[in-house]
Order: sequence, then C-alpha cells, then structure tokens
Amino acid sequence: MASQDLVASATSLPPAWTKLALLSHGVHIDRSFAAWFAGHPGSVRRRNFYNSPVWGHEGDVPQEIKLKTEGPPVTVAVNVYGDDTWTLRCDEQGPQVVNTRLGLTCGVSLISDLECLQTSAALGQIANLYGGSALSFFSPRACYFFTDGTQCRFCSLAGTAADTSFANRLSPGQVREAVSAVLGAEPERINQIMIVGGNERNLDAGFLRHVDLAKAAAKSVAAAGMTTRVSVHLVTMPPNDLNAIEELEGVPGVHTGFNLEVWDGSLFDQIAPGKAADYGQATILAALEKLVDVVGVYRAHSILIAGLEPAHSTVAGAAALAEMGVSPIVNIFHSDVHSEIGLAVRPTYEELVEVASGLSDLHAAYPIQPYWKGCGRNALDFEAGHGMFAGEPPALGASAE
Ligand code: SF4
Repeated sequence: MASQDLVASATSLPPAWTKLALLSHGVHIDRSFAAWFAGHPGSVRRRNFYNSPVWGHEGDVPQEIKLKTEGPPVTVAVNVYGDDTWTLRCDEQGPQVVNTRLGLTCGVSLISDLECLQTSAALGQIANLYGGSALSFFSPRACYFFTDGTQCRFCSLAGTAADTSFANRLSPGQVREAVSAVLGAEPERINQIMIVGGNERNLDAGFLRHVDLAKAAAKSVAAAGMTTRVSVHLVTMPPNDLNAIEELEGVPGVHTGFNLEVWDGSLFDQIAPGKAADYGQATILAALEKLVDVVGVYRAHSILIAGLEPAHSTVAGAAALAEMGVSPIVNIFHSDVHSEIGLAVRPTYEELVEVASGLSDLHAAYPIQPYWKGCGRNALDFEAGHGMFAGEPPALGASAE
C-alpha cells in the first residue's frame, strides 16, 4: 500500500482504540522519525522523572505523542518494548504511527515543552511537563520499600533515580516558587499540578509532607488567580493515622489518590508486597472511605493497573471503587526497565478492550472524574469519560492479522 493510501485510511482509525493497541505493543521508533525528532528540540523529550520503558533504542524519545483527532486530545505514552507491530515514522506527510500488517496509519503531533523548563536548569531539575498540560513534581525520589526489598513489582523508581540527576526531595518553597514561575511565564499551558513520590517509613510524616507540597502548589495557583482552571492532584500512601487525612481540607478542590494497584487480594500481596505487609489492602480501602469524606465524592482516586490481573478483575475493582464514590484511575501496565516484572508481562489489545469497555460503562453510570485532564498517557479514564470506548471496538489485535 502506498503511503498516500495509508494516511487516507487513518481518518477512520478511532484514536482511543488505537491508544490501546499502542499501549499494548509499544512502538518501534523508525530512523526516519528519529532524524525528524532530532530537528525538533522544542518537543518534550523523555526526562526519566518516573520510569523508562525504552528497551533497545538509542537516542532521544518523545515522552508522549498526541493522536490526531478532531475530538478531545488522545495522549499516548511512547513506550519502546522491541515490538515493531506499530512504528513511529516520518515522511512527507509528517510524523505518523503505522501498522503495516493491518495497513493502518494515524497522524500524530508532538508536544512542545515549556520554554521555561528548557531555559532554566534550576526549574528543569525539579519539575516536569507531563502529557502536555500537567506540571508534575516527584518527591521524594526514593521509597523505603526498595530498602526492604518489598517494592511494588512493577516499580522502577530506585533504578531510574540512580540513572538520573533530578532533585531527590522537594521543599514546599521549591514547589511554590516553581508553580508561580511556570504559571507566570506560560499561563495557558497548564491545567493541573501533579504531586507524587515514594514513601517514607513513617507513613504519617511522609503523608503530611506530601500534603504540605500540595498546599504550597495550591497557594501559588490561587495567587495566580487560576483556581477554576488549574487543579491540584496528589497521589500518595495513606497515613496510619486516618485523622491526618483531614489535613487535605487545607487544599481546596484537591484530587487525591491512594493506589490499590490491583483489585484481586492475593495478587495484591504479590504485586505490592510492601503495601500488603505494612498497610494492607483492606486498610487502603478504609483510608479511601475517609478520603471521600474529606475531599468529596469522586475527587478521591485509586489506580488499578490493567494487565497485572485478569481484565474482569480490573473492571470489578473499578466498579467497586465507583460504588464507594472513588474515581478509579485505570492505567495500562508499562514494562519499565529496572522493574522486577520487566518485559515478562504484556497485556494484549483484546484484554485492554475488555477493560476499556467495562470502564466506559462505569463512566456512563457514575459521575466519575478522570484524574488526568487529557494528559494521562498510560491511562484510559479521560477517553472513557468522553465516551470514546463506547460501541464496537475495531479489530486491532493479533486476531486481526
Ligand atoms: S509505593 Fe510502590 S509504586 Fe510507589 S514508589 Fe513505592 S515501590 Fe514504587
């Protein structure tokens, strides 16, 4: 098929389902794209703030791409697993993802980095642009579960932190100044502030430190007069003292997540052994109940990772959370370098279709709020919330070949 025909067929390629296929297989980066990307230094490069599913590719990689669509944005992580089912390439039509076996092409656009992050080394050390519209902070860049050998089996934090040189612990003052600087310099770009990090052994102290960072971010957002457009989002471990959750009342409108990772109880013990031993799945659920009381229904969140348990179990967990007034966050498993699981597990497109369809039904039935406002590169919630997984899925998996 000629390249012209491939691009023409892209117009009927539904972007949300294509996102599932891309997150299942990852993408191969063709030399034509690598050369084109090298000439676009203003596009966001992967900075390895979090993790690095890039197996077998040398050179710069975009953090994420946007699939071209006339509807809401569809943002997808660029994960490289050595599978060439989908290829990121560039020709006279511009950058595209291509599945040559199915004869499908979808045009993509790249995300421009924040100029202030590119020009200020100090800012670039502490903040990152996530998915094109979230200003993100990661602190601390360590988690005591790694010291104990009980880290979540999908997590790559220790190896990633050792490989890169970003700030290891942020103070509220640093977050406050960074948020003010970015909102002042590029006020139209950001629609959410995201705070996440590893855990301290004293869970109460670690939680309160995270809340202080969220309070600092909220102060700067308020000072910039952007409270209605820019929301503050925090993902953390819950404290042992559940009354400490009330400290979040000091962060107006905050979205907060305590992550379950998987719903199935016995898999929870295997996938998140530190959380299981030191806290327990039932206690996380109790903390989520308290969180709903404090931050309000559907502004409490919890991540379930699709691909680490059977699809029906992810959907059952998302349904139970929705019933509690918790907005589930469904992230597709990415096989990080440095994680224990590595490439041993990859969810199929068909499994992800089952999860996405189930999540779509839940969004139709409950007023769930996506955690990421269009920038969740590995998450399905924004697309599910916009009805993009309603109806019959296209055959993009192995059975279509
Ligand atoms: S709690 Fe688990 S996922 Fe989070 S930083 Fe620690 S090991 Fe990683």
